[in-house]
Amino acid sequence: HPTPVVTVDGPSGAGKGTLSALLAEKLNWHLLDSGAIYRVLAVAAMHHDLPIDDEAAIVPLASGLDVSFETENNQRRVVLEGEDVTDDIRTEEVGAVASQIASLARVREALLRRQRAFQETPGLIADGRDMGTVVFPDAVVKLFLTASAEARAERRYTQLKDKGMDVNIARLLTDIKARDERDSQRSVAPLVPAEDAVIIDSTDLDINQVFDSAMEIINSRL
Ligand code: C5P
Repeated sequence: HPTPVVTVDGPSGAGKGTLSALLAEKLNWHLLDSGAIYRVLAVAAMHHDLPIDDEAAIVPLASGLDVSFETENNQRRVVLEGEDVTDDIRTEEVGAVASQIASLARVREALLRRQRAFQETPGLIADGRDMGTVVFPDAVVKLFLTASAEARAERRYTQLKDKGMDVNIARLLTDIKARDERDSQRSVAPLVPAEDAVIIDSTDLDINQVFDSAMEIINSRL
């Protein structure tokens, strides 16, 4: 049997990150936060002053990206070229640049192997947009976590506010809708549920309810 993979795909702000971290902890499996890879690449492109639509320049940057994910005192840290970028990659600006870079077909291809390398025993929770459709098409369980744009904007607002960031909810909602549009309309690896995905709508669920339904689905398939 190959090492099992559970994919968690969906739009931004649906709670994938929280759910994936809880699942990985509960099962004691590895965790792939694929969005973080696109975000780190965005930061690297910005550091190197590369135009974000310059595919020919960004592909080699993606292939050679010097990123590592480390756990220190139970905190997950993201390190780019030796520099801790854990907080830097979480800004709305970086998210927007990541989303644009993520629409480049050859950039996505350049990141495939790096993402698949996370499939290690005893198992992997893979969080992203195309985990079930492109990166891990043979995953044992494919979850698609969604929620209304309004609910997602509200959660993002609370998250950023808690981090002490100055945010505007109307602006967040506009940005989320724009990002959804770009992620679902792009020609390469668009954000769509895999045919065999189980859809969980978290609009009216709290994180415990989402976690319980996800665990129920996983336990029924493992
Ligand atoms: O999930 P997160 O918001 O961190 O992802 C940032 C951006 O990276 C997304 O808006 C999306 O455009 C892109 N992404 C992607 N494929 C993934 C993960 C993220 O295209 N598997």
